[in-house]
Amino acid sequence: MKVIAIDGSSSAGKGTLALKLAEELDYAYLDTGALYRGVGYELLQNGLDPQDEEAAVQVAKSLSVERMLSLQDDSCIRNEVCGKAASYVSRLPKVREALFDFQRRFALFPIKKDKTPAKGAILDGRDIGTVICPEAKIKLFLTASSEIRAKRRYKELQLKGLCVIYEDVLSDIIQRDKRDQERETAPLKPAEDALVIDTSDMTADDVYAQVIAYIKERI
Ligand code: C5P
Repeated sequence: MKVIAIDGSSSAGKGTLALKLAEELDYAYLDTGALYRGVGYELLQNGLDPQDEEAAVQVAKSLSVERMLSLQDDSCIRNEVCGKAASYVSRLPKVREALFDFQRRFALFPIKKDKTPAKGAILDGRDIGTVICPEAKIKLFLTASSEIRAKRRYKELQLKGLCVIYEDVLSDIIQRDKRDQERETAPLKPAEDALVIDTSDMTADDVYAQVIAYIKERI
């Protein structure tokens, strides 16, 4: 199993790093946050409450493999409402259980966007190094101060043309971190053998350079 597990809090730089590594190493990439966002999105689309456990579990179980594979490219899930809904559904053990096999299978038999097999997989999320792929040889955990992450997110949203208030973005990030860190099942925390990187004062290129050197040393 050739897996790179990238965990960390939101807007710490996981996605940017994962995409760059996937391109460089020719690995398949799975953004696992998209799965939880997808569950949140379906619930909201059907007028259901993301905190409704039974409905959330039913939606998670009903997602087809095709849908799960396509979620990370679905722009409909990339908004703050879906992000918040995702952080509610992700607290439910049965939702996590329903999404487990798909993630595990992707790690074991990674496939690229063109559906061809890849020589390895990169998964990013909150529990990849601790729960989904505890045997991964490369585990990274990205973090950054809440303020820096809020500034990054605020800029991103502004670039999308959205009218947002910085203080709201910051408070949302703090609340989401709290929910992710304090939940009982698969809480956000670094695996014991993870390389922890604080990206607060680093550019995306700095992070990539550090990580690729670390990977090349180990593979
Ligand atoms: O990474 P992203 O912001 O898209 O994730 C949305 C939410 O999904 C996170 O706030 C977190 O609550 C949840 N999540 C999770 N486990 C993962 C990936 C995401 O609990 N592996």
